[in-house]
Amino acid sequence: MVSDPPDEQVTSVAIPPKRWRCCHCGGTGVGSYGDTCEHCDGLGFC
Ligand SMILES: [Zn+2]
Ligand SMILES: [Zn+2]
Repeated sequence: MVSDPPDEQVTSVAIPPKRWRCCHCGGTGVGSYGDTCEHCDGLGFC
């Protein structure tokens, strides 16, 4: 008989994705020409 294995709590450390303000548009997501920032694709983060 194999005894039940001890409960292993899956404590996966969920590291939230760190995003920073785009160095190109400053976080606005808009390029200098009023278009979608191609550096962050309009997200404002890169
Ligand atoms: Zn950027
Ligand atoms: Zn940008």
